Amino acid sequence: MKLSKFKNEPFTDFSKKKNAKDFEKSLNKVTERFSKEYPLVIGGEKFTTEKKLISYNPSKRDQKLGVFQKATAEMAINAIDIANNTFHEWKNTPVKKRVKYFVEAAKLMRKRKHDFSAMMVYEVGKNWAEADGDTAEAIDFMEFYAREMLRYAEGQPVVKIPGEKNKLEYIPLGVGVVIPPWNFPLAILVGMTSASIIAGNTVVLKPSSDSPAIAQMFVELMEEVGLPKGVLTFLTGDGSTIGDLIVTHPLTRYVSFTGSMEVGLRINELAAKKQSSQIWIKRVIAEMGGKDSIIVDSEVPDFYDAVRGVVQAAFGFQGQKCSACSRVIVDEKIYDKFCDALVQETKKLTVNVAAENPNMGPVINEKSMNSITEYIKKGIDEGGKLIHGGDEMSPEGYFIQPAIIKDVERDATISQEEIFGPVLAVIKSKNFDDAMDIANNTIYGLTGAVYTKNKKKLEKAEREFFVGNLYLNRKCTGALVGVHPFGGFNMSGTDSKAGGRDYLGLFLQAKSVAQKIK
Ligand code: NAP
Repeated sequence: MKLSKFKNEPFTDFSKKKNAKDFEKSLNKVTERFSKEYPLVIGGEKFTTEKKLISYNPSKRDQKLGVFQKATAEMAINAIDIANNTFHEWKNTPVKKRVKYFVEAAKLMRKRKHDFSAMMVYEVGKNWAEADGDTAEAIDFMEFYAREMLRYAEGQPVVKIPGEKNKLEYIPLGVGVVIPPWNFPLAILVGMTSASIIAGNTVVLKPSSDSPAIAQMFVELMEEVGLPKGVLTFLTGDGSTIGDLIVTHPLTRYVSFTGSMEVGLRINELAAKKQSSQIWIKRVIAEMGGKDSIIVDSEVPDFYDAVRGVVQAAFGFQGQKCSACSRVIVDEKIYDKFCDALVQETKKLTVNVAAENPNMGPVINEKSMNSITEYIKKGIDEGGKLIHGGDEMSPEGYFIQPAIIKDVERDATISQEEIFGPVLAVIKSKNFDDAMDIANNTIYGLTGAVYTKNKKKLEKAEREFFVGNLYLNRKCTGALVGVHPFGGFNMSGTDSKAGGRDYLGLFLQAKSVAQKIK
């Protein structure tokens, strides 16, 4: 099997009338799905349960987007057992055949990309471009891991010695529990699931309770391409009810998680404990939160480019990206001018119902909105000055004006804790060394950026800015599959580098075979 060289999926240009029209059609089309009820899929069989999970539109909080099931404890346990039975067949499926399912799925997703994006506009409040980027990334993950699996399946180089024929091959692990977040509800879900299955594992997928509708569309796509029954189990329900059961099940071989630090650490701890009949050490691949900083140095190459970069990174998708800039560290020489420019640039942002394609839509739910509001209060209580936004808006959805708080102390709560919403803390630095100290003064280490034209300072940032994804003279969001392998240090996770060449290795184990020859 020969696949063409990997190329990133291009983003849609919505300034072209035809593209905008096509997108509007998809926004209409997916509403047909809203009145339906969707089952769980365990071992290829479909089940409904007594307790339901309803997906709502955060832009219009009473609008239902679909009815889903809440899996029972018994079903969760059963799902792992069945996935384990299926694993014994699936692991022997030739690599090329496994790869084909995902190349086909990528092709179909590309063809209907606006339908997938439209669902995310409704379900998680992404504007068109953000949703389009999410779908493009999902396609990229499938295409990239398909090629990667072919590479891992090739003969691996080993040193030759006389009298023996030696080889090293990569084999799958077993049943993987895949737990994605709601904020990249397609890309991350597809990335973790496709890597798992292409590598020869079977998957129990538990989507976020905030985004089951888009997950359902992916599950239907995999059915359509004929993925054998039981390879992908779809288990909707409360993470807090069924999560522990699938993580601790003795037949679970690994957990691939992306989400908050709190849940990630809990999973890591639970998975580390050997259960009575368990015969392996479970692997945990956990990508978690961030408290990402952009340093704006006095020697900034283009002042307004830096302002725009910070505003986009802070408020794109309402600041609900793990990579979002939540702290901007500005040199005292340009501090006042930069704060003023930030406010002016942020004033241009529109906040509205996501389907109307504003700059910013709603935040994900009421709990999140309340938590963001509390953080803004805390930021002010601890001495920060609110210079823009922070007000809640229309009660129809979870809308909040992007907030900028200046004069934040480096150890203040809003400088240290992940907020996951449109709140930007501005911190004054004395010089570049001081800015680096502030940037590294966090338990996280996911993304970071530096704006300076001074070569020595850029080199220092390369050496000392302790983040998994560092960007120089550009914003800290917008990682591309294959281009910017993604994953963080410290409490940001296990640095799995999704979309990179090491990633599939996390879903495989290496076996060396030595044969004596004459
Ligand atoms: P979350 O609250 O931690 O939830 C993530 C997933 O874990 C959801 O599917 C959730 O299900 C499930 N879950 C909850 N409790 C569980 C338990 N006890 N056992 C097993 N699973 C459980 O995170 P989120 O709000 O969805 O996502 C936002 C977070 O993800 C932020 O912290 C963000 O920084 C992080 N993130 C990190 C990256 C990265 O690459 N580093 C990328 C994207 C997002 P329910 O919805 O049913 O509770």
